[in-house]
Amino acid sequence: MSGVQRSTRLVRVLGDAAKKLEKARGLGTVGDLLEFLPRRYIDANTSGRLSEFTVGETAVLVATVVSAQTRSMRNRRGRMLEAVIQDADGTTARLVFFRAYGHDSRLLPGVRALFRGKLDAYRGGWQLSHPDYTLVDGEDDTVYEGGLVPLYLNIPGVTDMQLTQSMRLVLDQLDDADDPVPPDVRDRRDLVDQPTAYRLLHLPRSMAEVGRGKRRLRYDEALVVQTALAQSRHRYDAEEAVPRRPLAGGLLAAFDERLPFELTPGQQRVSEEIAEDMARSRPMHRLLQGEVGSGKTIVALRAMLAAVDAGAQAALLAPTEVLAQQHERSIRAMLGDLAEAGMLGGAEHATGVALLTGSMSRGQRERVLLDIATGPVGIVIGTHALIQDQVMFADLGLVVVDEQHRFGVEQRDALRSKALRPPHVLVMTATPIPRTVAMTVFGDMDTSSLTELPRGRQPIASHVVPASRPAWLERAWTRLAEEVGRGHQAYVVCPRIGDADDGARESDVEVETDAEEYADEEPAETPRELHGVYETLQRLREEPALRGLRVEMLHGRMTPEDKDAVMRAFGAGEVDVLVSTTVIEVGVDVPNATAMVVLDADRFGISQLHQLRGRVGRGSAGGLCLLVTESDNPDTVARLEAVAGTTDGFALADLDLELRREGDVLGASQSGRRSGLRLLRLTHAKDIELIEQAREDAGALVTEDPDLLRHPALAELVRSRLDDEQAAFLERG
Ligand code: ADP
Ligand code: MG
Repeated sequence: MSGVQRSTRLVRVLGDAAKKLEKARGLGTVGDLLEFLPRRYIDANTSGRLSEFTVGETAVLVATVVSAQTRSMRNRRGRMLEAVIQDADGTTARLVFFRAYGHDSRLLPGVRALFRGKLDAYRGGWQLSHPDYTLVDGEDDTVYEGGLVPLYLNIPGVTDMQLTQSMRLVLDQLDDADDPVPPDVRDRRDLVDQPTAYRLLHLPRSMAEVGRGKRRLRYDEALVVQTALAQSRHRYDAEEAVPRRPLAGGLLAAFDERLPFELTPGQQRVSEEIAEDMARSRPMHRLLQGEVGSGKTIVALRAMLAAVDAGAQAALLAPTEVLAQQHERSIRAMLGDLAEAGMLGGAEHATGVALLTGSMSRGQRERVLLDIATGPVGIVIGTHALIQDQVMFADLGLVVVDEQHRFGVEQRDALRSKALRPPHVLVMTATPIPRTVAMTVFGDMDTSSLTELPRGRQPIASHVVPASRPAWLERAWTRLAEEVGRGHQAYVVCPRIGDADDGARESDVEVETDAEEYADEEPAETPRELHGVYETLQRLREEPALRGLRVEMLHGRMTPEDKDAVMRAFGAGEVDVLVSTTVIEVGVDVPNATAMVVLDADRFGISQLHQLRGRVGRGSAGGLCLLVTESDNPDTVARLEAVAGTTDGFALADLDLELRREGDVLGASQSGRRSGLRLLRLTHAKDIELIEQAREDAGALVTEDPDLLRHPALAELVRSRLDDEQAAFLERG
């Protein structure tokens, strides 16, 4: 039998044995099986005897199970497995698995297996905890030709050796007709063909072969993503937009004249890039990323004014109500009478500015909707409410999405679809993002970066404060009071809202913390009570060091009016200390605030802390940021020290990517969209190069053959690999 394809049902090749694979791991097709990659490999050639290894070394040995029992544990749920194994010399070692499940049915007395694991000392003898292993019935050279044994995730009733035999059966019949990577690209990039890659991974003779196989599959992942992005970009390019050029002597010119400061060279450069894009008849798709506090808002506002000059409207989509309100306030303040079109005292080129949020009253809302639909409003600022069906624009020319990490691509697109003709789109990220993420997540956009801060900014001094030392925390409050004494203001950030009565509930963690994403790091720590806003507000009002100061709070459960009132009061300097959740994280801009204390700082991610810290030191005075933690986990403290040690957001973004589980950077934070990356590591230098190569190759392929008609296998791979949500976005592109 030959002519087996990736889509062939496994039953056809393996018969009944396929059922177990399907049941345990959902492996229904030949392709599924081939993609079921080994978790690791044991080199049977180097297998020895216990006496050849010393404690702390990784031992590889063939041994026989002498005895095995499971028992329940004192402190944990589930059962553990304890076994004794014996090597060819008769030396024995203890074997433990804290989760017996799956192992208890395989490691039965009398069974021989190849084990690999770190050797520990245990009561004068040896111990292996959670070793990798595969059962062997005599070392079978025909199964493992090079002596390299691939280990797979456990499949009940199927040993690794049987799985290897199935792989061989499938690979021997696999038709290699349609490789998704064209031969010339394989040659250029020194990549093996696809069947060979699977062979190298499942039936390797050396680790070097495994490396070559993996490289090919990593390239595939990169190529699929980059091809989809290239196609999306190609579709954008084919769209026709209305060029929007600023009017000589118009609104933008009037605004520039009033600007109280000079644009930084970076702001000038980026503004030019945007103006060039908007003057074209194909829609702009530009990502503006920049250092916290680098002045992205002005750049965006200038683009919006240019759109208004050209007779169109501009919409600014903000991730939170607090931020939308603030944008409206600050844009109105910056524009002054330029925002008062139709009103008495409005300037000559003035336009209207409107805010649209979900919490507005019906009457207010209807008035705003009418103004947007009929045109007197040139600049609309809003939250998700902007995306809803009832919102209609007279002529939407520019969409600005602020702090993109809170929005999914879907929302960006929903707003785009409200324009008569495809609008120009500017996306701003809150913090710098690593280049690989920019290439992978925003790879269908052009990128502008603002790296420098406006002149005259004073540095922010950051310190980690261990909460275990009460005197240090006391000192932190004193420092806060000193800042206020100098006429400044301060933030105190808590990871949860807490309860108005006592503040002891776990259910009210403000959604935005990254705590979940870092949960892996501290598995054993007992959950401790996190600081809540209510409780902290109470405590600070009683804190002797802060006596006489005006302390208020801000969190997501307050009514929009209350939130707005507090932010206004804080902005006006009527509040000295603002106790808040991460609702202040993005964008909030009160230049007179110079100090910040982050409680339970370990609960926040690196970029998130950087973003929070960006709320202080925005004016001409220096800033102070104290990261308070109760954790003494060295990794956690090191992470906080890293944040304290630099204010370079680009460096921190890279570090963040390294430490986080990658899926969270690409996935959860991108509104649930999965990255689809399994092997590719956006942080590995080698993979970064591979992504760049794939990007180049995908660009060339798509330019020549946009619909991949001559590359059906690649087209199919792109279709199948992108999950539905992402595919939907690309189609709507
Ligand atoms: P971010 O890039 O973090 O969104 P903002 O746009 O909020 O930063 O700008 C931060 C602060 O810097 C604001 O108060 C803004 O008015 C001010 N600012 C922006 N550009 C300049 C400039 N060229 N010179 C001086 N101050 C500036
Ligand atoms: Mg901002």
